[in-house]
Amino acid sequence: MNTVNTNQDQQLVQIGGSPKAPPPRPPEDEVEKKFLIRRDWVYPADVSGRFRKTRKIVGYSLLAFFVLMPWIPVGGMPAVRVDIPGRQLTLLGQLFTPHDTWALALLGLMATIVLFFMASVFGRVWCGWACPQTVWLDWVYRPIERAIEGKSNKRRKWDSKPKSEWPASWWARKAAKWVAFALATGVATGIFMSWFVGGPELLRGEFGSGAITVGAGLYFVFFLDAVWFREQLCLYACPYARFQGALMSEKSLVVAYDEQRGEPRVKGKNREGGDCISCNRCVQVCPSGIDIREGDQLSCIACASCIDACDEVMLKIGKPKGLIRYTTDRDATGVKPLSVKTLGRRSFLYLGILSVLLGGLVVGVVTRSPVKIAVARAVSGAIYNELPDGRVSNQITINVSNRGDAEHGFTVTSPTEGIEMTVPGQPWTIASGHEQRMTAFVVAPRAAFAGGRLPMEVQVDRDDGLPTTATFTLLGPSADATR
Ligand code: SF4
Ligand code: SF4
Repeated sequence: MNTVNTNQDQQLVQIGGSPKAPPPRPPEDEVEKKFLIRRDWVYPADVSGRFRKTRKIVGYSLLAFFVLMPWIPVGGMPAVRVDIPGRQLTLLGQLFTPHDTWALALLGLMATIVLFFMASVFGRVWCGWACPQTVWLDWVYRPIERAIEGKSNKRRKWDSKPKSEWPASWWARKAAKWVAFALATGVATGIFMSWFVGGPELLRGEFGSGAITVGAGLYFVFFLDAVWFREQLCLYACPYARFQGALMSEKSLVVAYDEQRGEPRVKGKNREGGDCISCNRCVQVCPSGIDIREGDQLSCIACASCIDACDEVMLKIGKPKGLIRYTTDRDATGVKPLSVKTLGRRSFLYLGILSVLLGGLVVGVVTRSPVKIAVARAVSGAIYNELPDGRVSNQITINVSNRGDAEHGFTVTSPTEGIEMTVPGQPWTIASGHEQRMTAFVVAPRAAFAGGRLPMEVQVDRDDGLPTTATFTLLGPSADATR
């Protein structure tokens, strides 16, 4: 039976080279000491196979997605832009302002439920396949490192020597790698920032000093992660990795070693025993530096490199593939690939909630007006004034938000009979995603106020003829009250 191993220090073990058993794990306090004082590097060996190929396609597709999203126009707006100073979110041609709190709350809830669902059904597949940290590390930084410094064995050999023994050629390779990493990090930071300041705006340098400061901080963090922190981020810093354990169940997809089939491990050709030949290929290729044969581990990001490595070995020794495999079967009593039957009730609950939230969001967005108006009583002065001609005046404020994709002129009137409304400064020109507060003076006959109240309509006309209306109640003296 697979056991759950929560010991987190496996990744600090140096892995690779000739087939040999991984060194025994140091005690936990020693691990903490090691982590704080020095870094034991993991040198994952190259691997090929079906999962590696698929992950590569997924990885580069995601990189293209990261790069292109702020550049692709949808309905005249970028496909995505998170404008923090402007307090606006542009998503797939829809502009969300602080007036759309409902939509932002729904989006946040949906993102949370998606993560819950992913963890519940697919376990840590997000970590190994789609997390930006993994994608950049596996498909940008590691290929650069391999191209400049060579295969994992070579890197480990030279890195393990004292620096005083490094030849000039190895120093030169190190320097070239750091320069290449610095450039790649500059690109990564630019791509990240383009999601916030916009792609074309970033290229034109249209961003403030705040963005420069944030970008510089991010550059430092990204560079540190690429050259030093790496897989430790998943183990020590990522909160999602931490609470995924609570979201997963025995029905979640995991990478597992089939202990019943693999044990007892026996080396050599003429052998009797389990299918595992203790070649340690699965350990050598692991980017987290762990041995999956020891059971589920927090460090495992479900990247499937060990599956590809072991499948290769099984083919060579004439055994069926899948000694290490993706499975939903935690007791290893048989192969249970992911299917509708293996989904737990929790997964269906997440799907149900997600469908309701998505439905609400779609209906809300589709029925949403591109112009939002909010009418309120002016806070200064009297609630109403009785004019010498016998009429009653109210001062109100009208907030108009232009949620469309272009600048427009807006005119405010009141279609309510008997009401006269004056809005100084009309027509107002409002840029896309901006709002304008106007002050209006409304005059109505005293006789129109029933019980001291008079409902009225406010109409805002966009220059292309789109009308938007709102209602408001004016206050005044009761029509039948004696003066
Ligand atoms: S790669 Fe497969 S055969 Fe080799 S040690 Fe790992 S589990 Fe055993
Ligand atoms: S144990 Fe296997 S799936 Fe898990 S991180 Fe290592 S190589 Fe990837």
